[in-house]
Amino acid sequence: MTVAGACRRQPRIAIVGAGISGIAAAVALRRAGFGDFTIFEKGPDFGGTWRDNTYPGLVCDVPSRYYQFTFAMNPEWSQLYSTGSEIKEYLCRTARTHGLDRRTEFRTEVVGAEFSGADWRVTTARGEVERFDFVLCATGFLHHPKKPDIPGLEEFAGPVIHSARWDPAIDLTDMRVGVIGTGSTGTQLVGALAGQVPKVSMFQRTPQWILPTINRAYSPLAKALYRRLPVLGKVAYGCNRATFAAFSQGLVHPGLIRRVIQWVVERNLRSVRDPELRRKLTPDYQAMCKRLVVSDRFYQVVQRPDVELVTSGIEQVQPRGVITADGRRHDLDILVLATGFDSHAYMRPMAITGTDGRTLDQAWAEGPRAFEGVMMPDFPNLFMLVGPHSPFANHPLTAVAEAQSHRIVRWLKRWQAGEFDSVAPTRAATDRYNARLRAAAPGTIWTTGCQSWYLGKDGLPELWPWNPGAYEKLIRRAPDPADYTVSPAQSAFRAASGK
Ligand code: NAP
Repeated sequence: MTVAGACRRQPRIAIVGAGISGIAAAVALRRAGFGDFTIFEKGPDFGGTWRDNTYPGLVCDVPSRYYQFTFAMNPEWSQLYSTGSEIKEYLCRTARTHGLDRRTEFRTEVVGAEFSGADWRVTTARGEVERFDFVLCATGFLHHPKKPDIPGLEEFAGPVIHSARWDPAIDLTDMRVGVIGTGSTGTQLVGALAGQVPKVSMFQRTPQWILPTINRAYSPLAKALYRRLPVLGKVAYGCNRATFAAFSQGLVHPGLIRRVIQWVVERNLRSVRDPELRRKLTPDYQAMCKRLVVSDRFYQVVQRPDVELVTSGIEQVQPRGVITADGRRHDLDILVLATGFDSHAYMRPMAITGTDGRTLDQAWAEGPRAFEGVMMPDFPNLFMLVGPHSPFANHPLTAVAEAQSHRIVRWLKRWQAGEFDSVAPTRAATDRYNARLRAAAPGTIWTTGCQSWYLGKDGLPELWPWNPGAYEKLIRRAPDPADYTVSPAQSAFRAASGK
């Protein structure tokens, strides 16, 4: 497609992924009048991580009045922190209300995308190839389960199940359950299983700080008010936003908020009465260095006689249990791996090839890098949602995805106006941007001496190192043409940009 005579041309757009960010992007496209898009979703439904994760006890630790789209405020949330299934239903409902089911190809995995010089050729696992002007990667980063490399794991006689691949058909009633991992998932699982099964053994490699919270149900009256007065939803969203902005200050700056949160989590830990158990549960790093675990019951549950916190390292898995470094054998009937995700994969293993045959693996040999979280040099007309260094620590992805969709729509409008055919950030701008991120990283809590999935190969966090509000401001402003290379109409582009 050429710029000449290109007035009001309609871009063909592929969106890969129908989770939070795919839905946000598709609705933004639709509202801006871009109707020619296809969502490719490898799973059977909308919802992404909220579709995949169905383990017992799954609750989102961000209040639902904030963890929702501003274009689809839901008055019906049943409680302050909603369950995974309620969030999944909300996402499916929102997608269908906006007609996205008619534009989605479910059970269709995209395995590759190649830039031809004029457009993208998108290949599915069935071998079909379709051409698009733009590709939006909305694949998220919590979708490839990480299986631990523990000797003997394959020999275990009972089920071995990753938390993100929960099988509701398994009857746990008489099972002794081993849970490996003490992150947000492991703590929620143990909280839900304790008392429901004869014994839970929780294998802890690193203790976690736990932020206490109270979850409460919304009364019928509260729901009716939210239904009748939509402004209440907006006010609640705004209040949560302000609270999270304050909390985020503690993540990215030393100071009062950090000290307050440290005080709160230490005080919470004191609710564990047995000094030996308390010692085992005490982290040797600052609160929030790893993603903060939020729980209303973990410390109560871990003190139960039918719950054992195992802190000696796992040496080996045997058919009937686990042997730990202290020589003990822990007899188990099922092993649950709450061991997290390969969060650095992003849209991989899709094989993505940009200009001059440059592959994503080559571009990311030193770790995932992007320009302003959404674009990459050498990959024209390819956008990421919630890409590297987006603000996602304890921050709702709904807000991030909406802000990034705004930027994408802005580019599409300029393409539609014929300012360019393809656009990508320059390497120089991307390098400068990433240098700024690296320089700011030491001021954040994430580099204060812990291991976490936030950290990349270089030991630095793949997270936005400032307040999320600053990111939203950045991504909602007009892009600076000096940071981009466009084809073929540099002059039309710059003239339209006023530069
Ligand atoms: P995670 O935070 O990466 O935690 C993985 C856990 O597994 C850690 O305790 C880790 O120990 C342990 N582990 C990994 N490999 C191990 C091994 N070989 N032996 C023993 N232990 C091992 O994963 P997650 O809990 O699934 O959470 C991932 C992210 O999902 C969260 O950070 C959050 O963003 C999201 N999430 C959110 C919610 C929510 O409520 N919104 C709920 C669940 C998950 P180390 O600490 O020693 O590495």
